[in-house]
Amino acid sequence: MHLCPYCKTDNVEQLSSMGLRAAGCIVLLFLPYLFLLAWVPFVFPFLFRCRVCGTEWKRDELEEANWRKKEDLSEKQNQLEEELKQWFDTWVADKQHHVYKIVKNRGFLLMLRFEKSHVLPFMIETIDDSDGQTSFKLLQLWEKAFPVYRHQEKDLLTYEREEEPKEVFSDFGKEILNEEERQRLVTNDSLLQYAERTVSIEVFPAAKKESSAGIQKEEDEI
Ligand SMILES: [Zn+2]
Repeated sequence: MHLCPYCKTDNVEQLSSMGLRAAGCIVLLFLPYLFLLAWVPFVFPFLFRCRVCGTEWKRDELEEANWRKKEDLSEKQNQLEEELKQWFDTWVADKQHHVYKIVKNRGFLLMLRFEKSHVLPFMIETIDDSDGQTSFKLLQLWEKAFPVYRHQEKDLLTYEREEEPKEVFSDFGKEILNEEERQRLVTNDSLLQYAERTVSIEVFPAAKKESSAGIQKEEDEI
């Protein structure tokens, strides 16, 4: 089993298949002048994408998961969940006035950051409660994997151009937000007033995050 080196989940899919390469090769063979390039589809390395954080990896970049490693990870996860228990379903703000909700959903320990028309998902890596200040270290996840609004379920490239009513929540959105919270997002109030605590937040960047690069850029622009 393979693990994503960034978020350590095993939900990794292969992006390019042998069948597609063969099809590409056949198409090239029948195109004038391009038949000499028919070998090209076979030299690209197999790419894998993590369905949780959206990062793309080559096969040799993925981590091997033996039983020992999986046990360690699950122990770490249980310990973190214990520390986070009192925080679940709490709204917090960071020092830059971003507002987040802390939730556990489908086994993931998440912080969801509310932006103007979308919600950015993060995985909680650590929580540190020392010095009278609570600090979270987060990993950035893939918006498409945790779409709170319906329009977030679509391709990230097309959604910016389409303006849809934002009161349309996805199934995931309805699971993690109650009726009153959904109303908060729809009415466009300042969400800062709902944050119960101010915390310190640090996001671990992946060594490389190809498919999430767009998200990062977009976030910087806001
Ligand atoms: Zn990942």
